[in-house]
Amino acid sequence: MRLYCHWVLSTLQRYSCNPASETRSSWDTSEFLSYNISQVGHNLQDHFLIYGCVWEYHQPSVIPNAARAVLFWKTDPDLDTPNAQIVQSDGGRVRDEMKNLGLVNDSWWSIAPGIVRPKSRGRLRLTGPDPVDEIKIELNTLSDPDDMKAAIASIEICREVANATALRPFVKRELMAGNLKGMALADFVRDGIVTYWHQAGSAKMGRDPMSVVDSNLKVYGVNNLRIADGSIMPRVTTGNTMAPCVVIGERAAEILKEQYNL
Ligand SMILES: Cc1cc2nc3c(=O)[nH]c(=O)nc-3n(C[C@H](O)[C@H](O)[C@H](O)COP(=O)(O)OP(=O)(O)OC[C@H]3O[C@@H](n4cnc5c(N)ncnc54)[C@H](O)[C@@H]3O)c2cc1C
Repeated sequence: MRLYCHWVLSTLQRYSCNPASETRSSWDTSEFLSYNISQVGHNLQDHFLIYGCVWEYHQPSVIPNAARAVLFWKTDPDLDTPNAQIVQSDGGRVRDEMKNLGLVNDSWWSIAPGIVRPKSRGRLRLTGPDPVDEIKIELNTLSDPDDMKAAIASIEICREVANATALRPFVKRELMAGNLKGMALADFVRDGIVTYWHQAGSAKMGRDPMSVVDSNLKVYGVNNLRIADGSIMPRVTTGNTMAPCVVIGERAAEILKEQYNL
């Protein structure tokens, strides 16, 4: 994945007409100045999860706690689509924290609030011209304050669900996040945040100045180069990204079949 990213980034950024490009090289002659691909690596997006909200069972239970239930919800009713994907999950810091409290795995259950319509945007950068040079990933998670607001609202939804009367048979007490407020709650979000592994958007499709590929997946300004993966999404999908990536691949196959009469 790293080599592949590097190849795409370095090839495209070398062709880039952006004077701020980190990888300007001998390829950067005026002949390429019309190429509009300086946005490669920008517009990086990801879903994020927050580990985690935890409740103790009355008795140790045999009910598994991994992705048994998923909830899509709006943290603000005025939104067009759900922006929270809340999932039953016990990863990240949760196991360690519970162990520190002296609790065995079967004695608690956990829900991870997740944000799937983030406003924050990150960036990929090359650190050098060699294909094995590292790629710098600046995800910029929570850089937009609305994402923190959504994360906190998402935690409140988890607490409302789990502390509801219907779930009392499964709740002896709430272990995390409890009644944290203000900065303490924001720190809870920052300490628990992890990727949902749904990175997308760093070579976006479209017709605006941010766009890298057109509607046929062709890279603007470079002949015979197409991109067909999650990076072409203008905006990360609300749901998980694997199925949309399959559709992008299938569409790429159709386009190539049509173009070359295969
Ligand atoms: C741990 C994890 C868990 C996930 N869980 C889910 C899930 O439950 N549900 C879901 O919907 N999504 C899930 N995803 C996300 C989903 O897998 C990705 O969004 C999707 O696979 C991205 O597809 P892609 O084609 O953009 O990139 P990739 O799937 O990463 O494909 C890139 C391909 O390029 C190849 N490659 C790399 N370098 C080179 C090179 N130099 N030359 C040629 N080929 C190269 C790689 O081998 C790879 O096959 C998960 C992701 C991760 C990492």
